[in-house]
Amino acid sequence: MIRSPFIVRILSTSAIAAAAFAGSVPAAIAAEFPTRPITLVVPFAAGGPTDIVARSLGASMSKDLGQTIVVENRLGAGGTIAAGSVAKAAPDGYTLLIHHNGMATAPALYPDLAYKPLNDFEYIGQVADVPMTLLGSKNFPPNTTAELVAYVTKNGEKVNLANAGPGAVSQLCGALFEQATKTKLIAIPYQGTAPALNALLGSQVDLLCDQTTTTLPHIAAKSVKLYGVTTPARIKSLPDAPTLQEGGLKGFDMKVWHGVYAPKGTPKEVTARITRALQAALKDPEVIARMDKLGVEIVPVDKQTPAGLQTWLQSESDKWQPLLKSIAAQ
Ligand code: ASP
Repeated sequence: MIRSPFIVRILSTSAIAAAAFAGSVPAAIAAEFPTRPITLVVPFAAGGPTDIVARSLGASMSKDLGQTIVVENRLGAGGTIAAGSVAKAAPDGYTLLIHHNGMATAPALYPDLAYKPLNDFEYIGQVADVPMTLLGSKNFPPNTTAELVAYVTKNGEKVNLANAGPGAVSQLCGALFEQATKTKLIAIPYQGTAPALNALLGSQVDLLCDQTTTTLPHIAAKSVKLYGVTTPARIKSLPDAPTLQEGGLKGFDMKVWHGVYAPKGTPKEVTARITRALQAALKDPEVIARMDKLGVEIVPVDKQTPAGLQTWLQSESDKWQPLLKSIAAQ
């Protein structure tokens, strides 16, 4: 069937308005998806680790979809403002969310969370996993994890730990560090770890735990002190860096994972098309090379699927929510 672009536009607009009302998009519209730019919402500041993954992914998905993906940073409350806004967006595939472990942890940290991560979204797929690094400012006295543990044990109430707010992985990593060292540090929240890292570089804060996505160049330039990596094994992008476990923090095990979501009710034809574009982007040699340089590991294809993300979110929710509740009760 040949349709003039004008008719398609009229049909799309009225059908989508009806869809927003009825909670679904007609099959004919879904089959033409996408006919206009798509917004990919990032819950943290521009220039941070989530933003960098989103922009690289979005640029490549745009090529596959034939429409621009516009990255929009919606900041605040450890990523929950962005996730809440996408949960309430029209379920038409034109508003998507990229988020990390915060989808699994937020319900334990925000008793009045305005959305249910496991119920209010359709799943597109997992994207990539990233290790974290625990860093100190160059003026901060300890040089190794052992020295750091001794220092915070003595001076904990004077030590500043930057993060991207409750629900951010930097905050989660900090909470695990406090739990492992039995200390309580001064948390300094930012709207993403891009501004938090700037504060660390300017020695306005003492400590920050953040993804290799943004920390590798500063570690190489020695403009920050690296204590260790948060994964149980050493990582390819920093082969000489000890793990925090090697530094004496028994059982310290944390990595960041990313997934892409659409509002609940987005038609299957649409989510399937977005999943196809996600999988194409994660095979794109440019994306692969960039991610590799940043220490970001693209997940296997079976995880780049709605079922792969759903299963993972469920297992991460089961793992972290009881633990976070118990940390909060201490
Ligand atoms: N790395 C941040 C976090 O702590 C998020 C970001 O700025 O991308 O969650």
